Amino acid sequence: MKVLLLLAALVAVAAATEDFVGHQVLRIVPSSDEELRRVQELQDLEELQLDFWLSPRGTGDPVDVRVPFRSLQPLKAHLEANGVPYSIMIEDVQALVDHEQMQMLRHRRRLQPLSTDTFDYSSYHNLDEIYAFMDLLVAENPNLVSKLEIGRSTEDRPLYVLKFSKGGTNRPAIWIDTGIHSREWVTQASGVWFAKKIVQDQEKDEGLASILDQMDIFLEIVTNPDGFVFTHTTNRMWRKTRSKRSGSLCIGVDPNRNWDAGFGGSGSSSNPCSETYRGPYADSEPEVQAIVNFVKNHGNIKAFISIHSYSQLLLYPYGYTTTPVPDAEELHQVAEEAVAALSSLYGTKYTYGSIIRTIYQASGGTIDWTYNQGIKYSFTFELRDTGRYGFLLPASQIVPTAQETWLALKVIMRHTLEHPY
Ligand SMILES: [Zn+2]
Repeated sequence: MKVLLLLAALVAVAAATEDFVGHQVLRIVPSSDEELRRVQELQDLEELQLDFWLSPRGTGDPVDVRVPFRSLQPLKAHLEANGVPYSIMIEDVQALVDHEQMQMLRHRRRLQPLSTDTFDYSSYHNLDEIYAFMDLLVAENPNLVSKLEIGRSTEDRPLYVLKFSKGGTNRPAIWIDTGIHSREWVTQASGVWFAKKIVQDQEKDEGLASILDQMDIFLEIVTNPDGFVFTHTTNRMWRKTRSKRSGSLCIGVDPNRNWDAGFGGSGSSSNPCSETYRGPYADSEPEVQAIVNFVKNHGNIKAFISIHSYSQLLLYPYGYTTTPVPDAEELHQVAEEAVAALSSLYGTKYTYGSIIRTIYQASGGTIDWTYNQGIKYSFTFELRDTGRYGFLLPASQIVPTAQETWLALKVIMRHTLEHPY
């Protein structure tokens, strides 16, 4: 009976959503410049409707692409004809989406949790549940946590930031955001876990206590709420914002190509239908503009950490130019230490380095802008995994992912505290 009810609910959910029946995620590892070029060409073939989960980087680097059922045969034939090897990472995307939905339904309580102690951190949650969690956390910890509205999204949703502060005015601060790309669900879920962890450990963790004695922490958990709602209601694989452009049927801007740092350069697209569409001008997206205004008005943010998934990377600027940042050596050392701390818990392996050298050229990215604003400790994470599940990371991995990432965050925060500038 219980299973039937779950199935009925699942069918109801599925009816409203884009389905991925028969879609596969293929991994292509180009082994020569010629193969790399062939894979890059695929990005321009709009009729195949390919969704690049990992874009082409260099030879030897994996490219993950979600392929709709009707494009599978043509694409595989094309790859085979050109001698480009591939493997199947995800046999049936919809099966994983269904599994995730079942898990959420099973964990969703009939009643909203009455405290953050009974909140289910090992499950994915929708926007209402996360916003309710924030209100509970604030109500339970009025002397430490407050909630700021820093703007409104395109669809007029509030953009909330949690502020963790023991007092003072305009203290030096750490910024952390999760979920600017809406389909990267493990990031918002980790953000929720971080919020609770800060409250729980504020006194018993000496390192955290000394950070909070002198600095404030700002945490934006759902940085792209319109996209996030869309991933729950309509299309689990939505990455961009939900803004509309006149003259195009395609919707949304890549909010990690919309910042005023090398805006419009290589590694971003001028095509509104592209997943890396940069938008009509820098800061066109209210979700980006809100953070820009906040950072400028605050004026005392010392570390800025923007969290994505997936690939297991810790990156620092720049993405838009090969010119190293003046602080490259120090940032590299901090990254090395942070990754060592992260790996110490479960052995999860991370790669680290500048964006352009570690992944690819990307213009208009968040941390290039924050670095150019004078925020030296600007970092981007790409959380678990390395492609087995990609954006569909099982909920059972949320807490371990958040736990290990927290260790790296603490290294960055402590270094920031100990190296005032
Ligand atoms: Zn991302």
